[in-house]
Amino acid sequence: METVQGRTVSDGIAIGRIFYYRHIRMTAVRHDDADVREELLRYEEAKIRASSQLRELFEKASKEAGAENAAIFKAHQALLEDEAYGNFIIDRIRGEKVNAEYAAALAGEYFERLLSGLEDEDTRERAADVRDVTERLLRILSSQMEEEPLLPEEPVIVMAGDLSPSETIRFDRSRLLGFLTEQGSLNCHMAILARSMSLPALTAITPQEEWDGKTVILDGQTGTLYVDPDSSTMERMKKKKEQLEQEHRELLSLIHAKDETADGTRVKLYANIGNVADAKEALSYHAAGIGLFRSEFLYLGREDYPSEEEQFQAYRQVAEQLDGKEVIIRTLDIGADKKADYFGLEREENPALGLRAIRICLNHPEVFRTQLRALYRASACGKIAIMFPMIASVWEVKECRRACQRVMDELTAEGIPFNPDTEIGIMIETPAAVFMAPELARLVDFFSVGTNDLTQYTLACDRHRSDLGKFFDPHHPAVLRALKMAADAAHEAGIWIGICGELGADPDLLPTFLAIGIDELSV
Ligand code: PEP
Ligand code: MG
Repeated sequence: METVQGRTVSDGIAIGRIFYYRHIRMTAVRHDDADVREELLRYEEAKIRASSQLRELFEKASKEAGAENAAIFKAHQALLEDEAYGNFIIDRIRGEKVNAEYAAALAGEYFERLLSGLEDEDTRERAADVRDVTERLLRILSSQMEEEPLLPEEPVIVMAGDLSPSETIRFDRSRLLGFLTEQGSLNCHMAILARSMSLPALTAITPQEEWDGKTVILDGQTGTLYVDPDSSTMERMKKKKEQLEQEHRELLSLIHAKDETADGTRVKLYANIGNVADAKEALSYHAAGIGLFRSEFLYLGREDYPSEEEQFQAYRQVAEQLDGKEVIIRTLDIGADKKADYFGLEREENPALGLRAIRICLNHPEVFRTQLRALYRASACGKIAIMFPMIASVWEVKECRRACQRVMDELTAEGIPFNPDTEIGIMIETPAAVFMAPELARLVDFFSVGTNDLTQYTLACDRHRSDLGKFFDPHHPAVLRALKMAADAAHEAGIWIGICGELGADPDLLPTFLAIGIDELSV
């Protein structure tokens, strides 16, 4: 037996055979003195074919992983249409009289190199997208059909150096048990798709030729891969898997239980969502409401701002699905690790401490106004609450409230219905918000603690660095004390307080949360 440590990007346990998916990198041979007209035509035709393939992939991914997760294929389409990319190819065909595939390969190499040389991780991820789109063009130009990657009948754990989103989504879901890749991070598309398909996945696993076809255990709880497990490990892991499934079944049997402790204290059990499809899943587990809708996902993986109408439709759909249950929608929390090029944000030395979340909204009133209009319009369709992230100062909340009032005045003047009593809350995720909690509590209807950022900022410890290990400790007394200070201030002012950071899902801390008087947990 061989034991290898990887990094979990999607949890769960999978037991099965490895299927080594070898990515065949497309290459192009240079042909000089090509017929320019003919090659331009071949390029245009290939582009049309690629575009229709991407549309099909978008449809498939929307069904299997939700429209927001499928947005990557829209981004690929935009890349395919990108002027700089297209002109590069056309110029090479015209100028150097080379064949279309060679020109496309040159464009791919050029833009990939350009992007992967940049420091920012998200921009580097875009280099993989350029590669993906270029390979699609090359495959079409060399008349290689995009075949369904053939997985064996028996479901397998796919191992690869790297998996592009196109590859990940093309696999037949019914033949998949999990993923092992060398490349990739928690936020890469393979990981996002794996999580939305409930498949365990590890990265930082270097594929080994000799593992192909071998039985392995992928333990997404610990990030461990057991190759050729001995019988005692197999037995232990089968038990662990069975136990996890049993726990899952037991928990399922409790979904009708009241959100109440034995002594009758009510704690609202809400769910966190990132897109419209998640709302349905949360409801299938009987969530009492949505405690955090991370609206920024509507802004990511695309080329331009989502319009008011587009946002309205997304918020309306969630509100209607929740059918009277509360939906707390957080306004745009972009910046730091979440980037969208079209915002034109400068590269920052310390992005977590820079222009992010509410700071961007207050600096870009038009972007903020569009989102608030969509939110207030949707407030007429269900029980929506609005929440502002990364608050540090009283003036910020006052400014947010003024922006809300302006939008309500506009809608009134336009005769558009909305709920004027829409609740307004803030996230408590900076130490400043904790210290100012008594003053802030008088300005809002509720607090929700973002323990991911609160831990990061309280302990001065980067939440995105996996190597900080025990230094990033959400159980640190300073974090728990901050939680209590915020809760006391909230209750003193007569408002409720919830937790929507990862810590809210930690059962070990439930007694602490009850002692502190947390009113809602969104997990
Ligand atoms: C948090 O910081 O705990 C939180 C819920 O927000 P996000 O993880 O989206 O920053
Ligand atoms: Mg946060």
